[in-house]
Amino acid sequence: MQQAGATGSTDLRKLTEQDISKLFSPKILERGIEYFEEGRLQRPFVYRSSIMAECHGTQPENYHTSIDVRDDNIVASCTCPYAFGYCKHIAAVLYAWVKRPSAFADLGESEEILSRLDKSQIVEIVMDMIRYDPDVMYVINLRLTSAGELTDFTRREVAAIFSEEYVDYLNVREIVKKLDIFREYASDLAREKKTDTALALIEPVIDAIVANYTRLDDADALMANFFGAAMDMYGSLLSVIKDEGKLRIHLTRALDWYMDAEWGLESDVLKFLADYPVRLGQNKYMIDAVELKISDFKRSFISTSPKYSEEHEYIDERIGRLNILRSELRRNAFR
Ligand SMILES: [Zn+2]
Repeated sequence: MQQAGATGSTDLRKLTEQDISKLFSPKILERGIEYFEEGRLQRPFVYRSSIMAECHGTQPENYHTSIDVRDDNIVASCTCPYAFGYCKHIAAVLYAWVKRPSAFADLGESEEILSRLDKSQIVEIVMDMIRYDPDVMYVINLRLTSAGELTDFTRREVAAIFSEEYVDYLNVREIVKKLDIFREYASDLAREKKTDTALALIEPVIDAIVANYTRLDDADALMANFFGAAMDMYGSLLSVIKDEGKLRIHLTRALDWYMDAEWGLESDVLKFLADYPVRLGQNKYMIDAVELKISDFKRSFISTSPKYSEEHEYIDERIGRLNILRSELRRNAFR
């Protein structure tokens, strides 16, 4: 889940224990310190104004935690499902950074070394990387695709990732790992203020997850967590859009996701839709859109087959969802 917060200090390299203690409740901080002391952090590194590490928790999967000092804020994210602010993994990584910065490999140094190499040496290294991990091809292809072709390219690649053949033998973790390459690139684009391009990339990823979720065995909620992070990114991208028409197109799209999402995903879209329209001054627009959808669904009741049919059940369930959203929106209007 993506989480954001701020401290008084804006320089990663000058952060103190006191700065980070302000970000957490004492209990979470204590758990974070325990995690650090138990040696649960793996592969910590620092690059420019970011620190990253993997955190070994109770699940067999490691959580990926990254912390960025950006626009005078500390912006942290973690792939764990904790939803009440900063988690203990973020606390552990920040604490480790303050206590033992030398444990973090500095990618800036690697960058400097690479910048001194000639082209053939770089090509050799990149080819080695692809051999070691073929997913590196996604990283390269994404960066070689023009902004105008990004949506089509992503749609095609993500469809292939979810194709019959892959879903059969890849587990969810592998699929999430591939999709994360797309999300990371969208996050880079967002940082460069290329909002439209980032949206052109993240939307087809969200579309594909919504369309394919039932085919996956997401027992550890890895895909659901990834989806939550993608929705958070979607929200922060919409927050910088000035054009009201554009904003509404994207919000309507999120409403479609809410209708199409299977159990396990719909709560993340609900969280998004209950929160962002009011933040973006589009609460009334969203309430109207929801009401229109409710009456559309109610009208289709008349034309559908008898009660207790699957279709009837589906419509009934969707109307239920819309009612929940509408009351959330109405409540938030007075926030
Ligand atoms: Zn976490």
